[in-house]
Amino acid sequence: MIRKRTLFYLLDGAHAEVLPELISRGALPNIQRIIEEGSYRKATTCFPSTTGPAYLPFLTGHFPGTMNITGIRWFDKKEFKRTRLNKNAMRSYCGPEAAWFNTDMPAHLPTLFEVMGESYNLYNMITRNIPDAYDLGKKGKGLLYTRAHFLKRHHPVDLQGHERIMQMLRSGKDFDFLFAVFPSVDWDSHYYDIRDARTFASYKIADDSIGEVRAFLEKKGWWKDLLFVLTSDHGLTPTHTHLDIGDWLTARGLKSVYYPVIWKQNPKSAVMISGNSFGSIHLLDHPGDHELCETEINSIMGAERLQELVREPAVDFVAYRADAEHTYTIHSRKGKAHVRVDQNNFEYRPFTADPFGTGQLQVHGHRSALEATFETAYPDFLYQIHQLFRSRRAGDIVVSASTGYDLRDFWEFPEHKGSHGSLHRSHMHVPLIYNQKGWHTHPARTADLFDTILKWKGLRPASSEGEALF
Ligand SMILES: [Zn+2]
Repeated sequence: MIRKRTLFYLLDGAHAEVLPELISRGALPNIQRIIEEGSYRKATTCFPSTTGPAYLPFLTGHFPGTMNITGIRWFDKKEFKRTRLNKNAMRSYCGPEAAWFNTDMPAHLPTLFEVMGESYNLYNMITRNIPDAYDLGKKGKGLLYTRAHFLKRHHPVDLQGHERIMQMLRSGKDFDFLFAVFPSVDWDSHYYDIRDARTFASYKIADDSIGEVRAFLEKKGWWKDLLFVLTSDHGLTPTHTHLDIGDWLTARGLKSVYYPVIWKQNPKSAVMISGNSFGSIHLLDHPGDHELCETEINSIMGAERLQELVREPAVDFVAYRADAEHTYTIHSRKGKAHVRVDQNNFEYRPFTADPFGTGQLQVHGHRSALEATFETAYPDFLYQIHQLFRSRRAGDIVVSASTGYDLRDFWEFPEHKGSHGSLHRSHMHVPLIYNQKGWHTHPARTADLFDTILKWKGLRPASSEGEALF
């Protein structure tokens, strides 16, 4: 029987507009060759569109709300109010708590690594049940990543990653699934610019790697039956202004707990920022430990204060649970609208305004929800709002930043010059490339890759929010 291998390059932060620009200039010949033989298209990632949570759709078939990992940082009001000396009260995966990502995911929902057979990982932090010998980047990763972060020396990480892949292949080992993260496009885009020469060089490192790995696999006779996939977890936009939501609330009498300042007496709120264009606000100054609906938010936070937040130029919109069941309020400086999801019926109804700019929508089924919104300013918003609020860790109020702004200031070092995390299309659209032709052409989500990769190997997912692309 032919072994149906999958080779997956995750170019973290690869941009749905920048990547095609580089290809049209002939700067990425190996990726270009795969597109010519296969397909290039766009897909949507998830909300929040941020590293870590945005790996969940293709690695598990499920979205952050379903997986209960609602950001690169999250807060759990119920656990916090039970006792704050509690490892499940809050989390930041940017640091030593990263290791808990694996046990924070629901145990019954498998990753591709757990079902695909011989599965190798390079650099991705979701490593549940991956033996060390199959975790190619693990040895020396800590030091390399620390140097990358503080000295802005990013490219050695990707270069060493490529070397580890080649060492594994040259040693004569075979694989069913090889998932390789190339992190430098994201880092260079954050600290320089999405179109900086150093960022372009990061794309080129991945392209060179693909060329060399492909040549090796062709020599082995493995390339022709192999599924090659390249995608990204989010886009990015340049950032000119930071508004720190934690400081903003603290200055207005709602003393806020946020990373890394998590020990404060009698906090009245908690703020968790991801990417840094996504934030969740958790209001604490009330009896009980439940997620708040619109009326309660207005009384506990103060309706004027909420209005003031929504009027901040840094805030594109906020979303929160409406008083009616299965209904969410989308609130921007223009006014309010409602998203309602009941069973498989998805509805968007402008109320005092049309913050998403689509006019009223009413569709049946989550694929139709994607199709109706794929090319709008907020791709897949009907499903993404719904999946996120499945988790109480989404908080009482979700903030999506305006492009050009992000939501974290002083504590972010080095300063971010680019951001992602929001529901805006510049963060939600990602490039999707594979070495196959003639597959479905309807709009795709990165979650569809989970089903697609399993199907390639002749397997079916036990549970998924995606659908196979062929
Ligand atoms: Zn990323």
